[in-house]
Amino acid sequence: MGDIINFSENFYILEDGRVRQFLICGEKEALLIDTGFPDSHVPEDVRKITDLPVKVILTHGDMDHTGGLKDFGECWLNQRDWHLIPEGIKLHDIREGDVFSCGGYRLEALEIPGHTFGSIAFADREKKLLLPGDSVQKGGPIFMFGDHRSLDLYLESQEKLLGIMEQVESVLPCHHEYPIGPEYIERNLLDARALKKGELAGEKHPVLPCCSYKGKWTEFYY
Ligand SMILES: [Zn+2]
Repeated sequence: MGDIINFSENFYILEDGRVRQFLICGEKEALLIDTGFPDSHVPEDVRKITDLPVKVILTHGDMDHTGGLKDFGECWLNQRDWHLIPEGIKLHDIREGDVFSCGGYRLEALEIPGHTFGSIAFADREKKLLLPGDSVQKGGPIFMFGDHRSLDLYLESQEKLLGIMEQVESVLPCHHEYPIGPEYIERNLLDARALKKGELAGEKHPVLPCCSYKGKWTEFYY
């Protein structure tokens, strides 16, 4: 069980110290963004907040975001991450420009492949809010190793997010500190560029099959 934080009207943050999810309550439906690890017990926490039917949308398909899926049975997720989802879950695609409205929020989907090929950010331009999944973080580490990730695409996607930076005041990542400012989009991008150019020294990770690269603001596992 994690902490439940009423972040703003109709908007809840579920937090278990490792990964966080977001729940927006409307009148007839609630919108859940991500479902945590299997042992984050997100479905139980959601039921402490609302009895409404829950629509699940995912920022991406990594296992720390999909762990509670079997209790919901279906979700919306960009097709390029469908291969990461266990069998038995009904899947619906999320594409660029799709809008999910709930409880006074209007979340627009932006395709930001890189951290995973199907990564999606959700932006509410009126509320100046960005839910970037794992793609924007303060400090990190941002996971960039493995064959379902691409540093080149990540660089392109951070440049795309940079283009809406002026329309964002508050960024709510799924890991580490929150809320953070939109300047972290640029900071993550600058560090990722340095990583791409080979300017960061790597140190072998003691457990994971990757190296740790520390940029000025961001650590990458690559
Ligand atoms: Zn994650």
